[in-house]
Amino acid sequence: MSDTVTGPLTADSIAGAAYVVAALLFILSLAGLSKHEKARAGVIYGITGMIIALAATIWLTVQDAWGTGAGLTGLVLLVAAVIVGGAIGFWRARVVEMTGMPELIALLHSFVGLAAVLVGWNGHLEAPALSPDLTAIHHAEVFIGVFIGAVTFTGSIVAFLKLSARMKSSPLMLPGKNAINLGALAAFIALTVWYVNDSQLWLLIVVTLLALGLGWHLVASIGGGDMPVVVSMLNSYSGWAAAAAGFLLNNDLLIITGALVGSSGAYLSYIMCKAMNRSFISVIAGGFGIAAPASKGDADQGEHREITAEATAEMLTNASSVVITPGYGMAVAQAQYPVAELAHQLRERGVNVRFGIHPVAGRLPGHMNVLLAEAKVPYDIVLEMDEINDDLGDTSVVLVIGANDTVNPSAAEDPGSPIAGMPVLKVWEAENVIVFKRSMAAGYAGVQNPLFYRDNSQMLFGDAKTRVEDILKAF
Ligand code: NDP
Repeated sequence: MSDTVTGPLTADSIAGAAYVVAALLFILSLAGLSKHEKARAGVIYGITGMIIALAATIWLTVQDAWGTGAGLTGLVLLVAAVIVGGAIGFWRARVVEMTGMPELIALLHSFVGLAAVLVGWNGHLEAPALSPDLTAIHHAEVFIGVFIGAVTFTGSIVAFLKLSARMKSSPLMLPGKNAINLGALAAFIALTVWYVNDSQLWLLIVVTLLALGLGWHLVASIGGGDMPVVVSMLNSYSGWAAAAAGFLLNNDLLIITGALVGSSGAYLSYIMCKAMNRSFISVIAGGFGIAAPASKGDADQGEHREITAEATAEMLTNASSVVITPGYGMAVAQAQYPVAELAHQLRERGVNVRFGIHPVAGRLPGHMNVLLAEAKVPYDIVLEMDEINDDLGDTSVVLVIGANDTVNPSAAEDPGSPIAGMPVLKVWEAENVIVFKRSMAAGYAGVQNPLFYRDNSQMLFGDAKTRVEDILKAF
């Protein structure tokens, strides 16, 4: 026996069905993005899901406009917002450099946070007439949504400023910073209880200002080396902010999508914390329990040695095994194509060539993998840090292409270093190390790198792309 539920096909039910399809496509998209081979399909699922979601939302608004005549303004505003927003997004996506992606993403997270704050404020100003129980839930949704949105907004702005080097990447160490964060959290809980019982506007103003300050302080307190976790954490916050807005707008898709982004961002933060040997709780709590570093690693390190592209070419031709460890400088120089060609030519000469990728190399999770895939480097020679680290001692030559913090021995050897405890590629264990960079400047975390002064290290100064091309010419 089967029960069949029947009813009229309404605009709401059609849009609801479309939202379920869109949500499934978003889940497939996340699954696809977890593997190199399926990443392109994952992106296509995501785009398709978003088109379906947008079409369903427009369809609902059109029905509303036709049915009542009152939704016409909403329709015009919606179409205008899609055209203007779509045009700006299309233009930014076309012109942004790969190296500018992290700060663009941080800025986009801030928009999600701001949108959640505005939706929350709208929920207060245009509060629907509900039963007392539902009113209390509505008030809690408004308050929590505004809080998460405002933390995400200023936190993402600080991340944008740090990633684009408009603000120092070193951590802000205010006295009593842990007490400030805990106090803000306690005040938020007390204010929420108050607001749920008595929804006064001034309480909303106070929580908005409190959350704006907390978001700023949380991210400003985190040092350069831990920024990757912050970016994925803000990604997670932006998801929860969107989910909170979904509850207020009564939009299931926004709730599902927000929860997907929120939970996958939280999981990514956890993975990155594990990879970097950091405490998840202390990073999401704005560096809770982390003391100021005892040293900046700026002690006199002695003399460094330089090498030419021609001498490097000769060393490579005589090598039996070569490991290439790329970093942010490879992205800046756009050196991935000549680097891929170098790997190809060495392999043709019988040299065992592999790439060693640090989990936070570059400025985005997977940054180096994307660049190498773009240059068609075979996946099977691109290894994770844990897969290659034990082999570095038996490697003839390591080429460090624009990497710095991710190959810094002080992380492993100097307990007072700001990056102490972060696992790094142990390139110094190889027979020879050639470091491609333009100067002796420190990396993103602002810590001097003793690798450059080791007896087996030599510096090949200049733009990484030009220098690799010089080596190719010398072959
Ligand atoms: P770093 O940022 O530590 O160092 C990059 C090096 O590249 C610099 O020292 C720079 O030296 C050199 N460089 C820059 N441009 C060029 C060029 N055109 N040619 C040659 N060299 C160049 O890079 P890593 O990848 O080793 O480490 C990443 C850092 O970024 C870590 O601290 C990580 O925590 C942080 N981070 C990572 C994120 C992620 O998700 N992956 C997100 C946010 C931060 P010089 O100026 O002398 O040339």
